Amino acid sequence: MKKSLTLIVPCYNEEDSLPIFYEAVCDVAGTLEHCDVTLLLINDGSRDRTLSIMRELAAKDSRVRYISFSRNFGKEAAMYAGFCNAKGDYVAVMDADMQDPPSLLPQMLEILETQEYDSVATRRVTREGEPPIRSFFARMFYRIINRISDADIVDGARDFRLMKREMVDAIVAMCEYNRFSKGIFGWIGFRTKWLPYKNVERVAGETKWSFWGLFKYSIDGIVNFSQAPLSIASLMGLLLTVASFCAIVFIVLRRLIFGDPVAGWASTACIILFMGGLQLLCMGIMGQYLAKTYLEVKRRPHYIIAETNDESAKLVG
Ligand code: UDP
Ligand code: MG
Repeated sequence: MKKSLTLIVPCYNEEDSLPIFYEAVCDVAGTLEHCDVTLLLINDGSRDRTLSIMRELAAKDSRVRYISFSRNFGKEAAMYAGFCNAKGDYVAVMDADMQDPPSLLPQMLEILETQEYDSVATRRVTREGEPPIRSFFARMFYRIINRISDADIVDGARDFRLMKREMVDAIVAMCEYNRFSKGIFGWIGFRTKWLPYKNVERVAGETKWSFWGLFKYSIDGIVNFSQAPLSIASLMGLLLTVASFCAIVFIVLRRLIFGDPVAGWASTACIILFMGGLQLLCMGIMGQYLAKTYLEVKRRPHYIIAETNDESAKLVG
């Protein structure tokens, strides 16, 4: 029986890239004889013509389904909406900017069909065209997160991956509000084959990630998949308590033996400042976790759909 493949494409202001992407996918879909391809385009609150392009594509091509959010919810929410509404036996996530080459799809499909894998993921082995400072921090982030969390996160991993149904169901079941997909993919397990490829620059438009945005996203990744910062904070507290206890004993003994010369106000001020800073830092770390918990317990929906051509789509999810 013919299998079906759903391509989830999150789009935010992609009016220039989307038509190019659509053509490229159509070319590839034509070569896949044993698989029906459906495009599930997610408009993540774009402010340009992305939505009207989606409507046009859907009107002329029955393989195109689209979902349009009521505002910008972020790529993570767009991917989640895609996973919740994808019906294919195989599901892939792809960026609309051609940085995830559709030409890799046939090879990925063949691996899933002929080998013992549940998903085929891609990782870029070069970071050409990226500012060096961004690459440096990206590398550091991967090194830290792999040390302190049990989610296996591969350096250079892209969100572009092809998955079997079982894996998609597992992802949908991970319904946490603060989503960090790279961590989720790693956490749920399954057998994954990694395909390395050279970085491709986007065909049109600009990246939606600012340095600050990426920094916040990396903090999300750490807080979502590791309790290590909390342990480090408690450990620091413990060490300092022991050290200050020893210091107090030392000072009391010195006072008893040598009397009380008034000196050392500068060092006292430094110590007070240091302790104050450390306490604020630890409270900040706890605050990060508390804020996540707060958002999580509110159980707000990940996305709200304002318009779609898919009658079975869940409008709030
Ligand atoms: N995207 C999205 N919502 C956002 C930001 C980005 O759906 O709030 C989409 C975007 O349209 C693109 C993909 O996510 O298809 C990757 O974004 P981008 O190319 O800006 O990221 P980069 O490739 O630079 O990491
Ligand atoms: Mg991109």
